[in-house]
Amino acid sequence: MRFRPPTLFPPKGRRWLIPVLLIAVALALWINVAPFTRLTQPMAAARVARLPATPPFYSGEKIMILSPHPDDETLCCGGMIEQARAAGAEVYVTFVTSGDGFEFDAAFEGRQLRPGAGAFRSLALKRMNEARAATRALGIPASHLSFLGYPDGGLLHLFLENYATPYLSPTSRLDKVSYAGAASPGNSYTGLNLERDLTAQVEAVNPDLLLVPAPQDAHPDHRTTSYLALRLMAERGQTSRLRFWVIHGGLEWPLPKGLHRSEPLTLPSRAMNLAWTRADLTPAQVLQKGEAIRVYRSQTALLGRFMQAFERKNELLSTTPLPPGPLTDTAYPSR
Ligand SMILES: [Zn+2]
Repeated sequence: MRFRPPTLFPPKGRRWLIPVLLIAVALALWINVAPFTRLTQPMAAARVARLPATPPFYSGEKIMILSPHPDDETLCCGGMIEQARAAGAEVYVTFVTSGDGFEFDAAFEGRQLRPGAGAFRSLALKRMNEARAATRALGIPASHLSFLGYPDGGLLHLFLENYATPYLSPTSRLDKVSYAGAASPGNSYTGLNLERDLTAQVEAVNPDLLLVPAPQDAHPDHRTTSYLALRLMAERGQTSRLRFWVIHGGLEWPLPKGLHRSEPLTLPSRAMNLAWTRADLTPAQVLQKGEAIRVYRSQTALLGRFMQAFERKNELLSTTPLPPGPLTDTAYPSR
């Protein structure tokens, strides 16, 4: 029998493996390694560098964030929260859901393959506690937090099919606001109740700026929060007080994944042409934001590299929900 030296190449019948492996390696480099990401997006950093600066916050200003899930407020705005507080502004956060719809997370946290309603409800209470600790790390007083307790993954259903008839969460099996510490316990899960609760929160604070997800965000809960915020601020004649951010911004955004603190947060592909402004963070603010992100242990265990990708030297805030043009120029005048 002829001796065959060992080879790296697969045998003839499996040569198709070579391009598959090459594509997998290229994808891994593109997603995780900054120089490779830069190669594929040569203009991305320059576009961010050219953006106007986010106007500074001022003493006495009231900043309110509508956070669809516990963690969004820190990912989008942790650095700006620190800047606002340092300037003497007051920061308020309203959490729309308690994050009780994340199946992998409930399975992981509950150590069970098919989590039942109890595991999802436990996850919600855990995430509410993480939200309290993370916002405390950013200096927000507990009295400035509100939890509405609406169903994670269900907001678009409330907005569309369940505006007047109660929605039953397929994960927590709840059809009304039930978590201890929620703002309106017993309110059935309807779009009308959600809209009323959001309006009451905004009326109580009367914020100078309301920071909300952009309607381009890929997550349905984020988009619904955006639609409701747009509607309620239009009714108040205060659309110019809205500012928009994105968390789920399109294919693999933000790139690269993982911890790259000196890299910029580039523009999300789903919302490339909004009227973005750039909030530059100091290294200390980036570190502090990272500390707050790491408080969300139930999330970082599964989404750590995605969440770390927001620990960057800048954050992004748009003054309009649509690209600047005739539709937005009058309704959303620049500040
Ligand atoms: Zn979210």
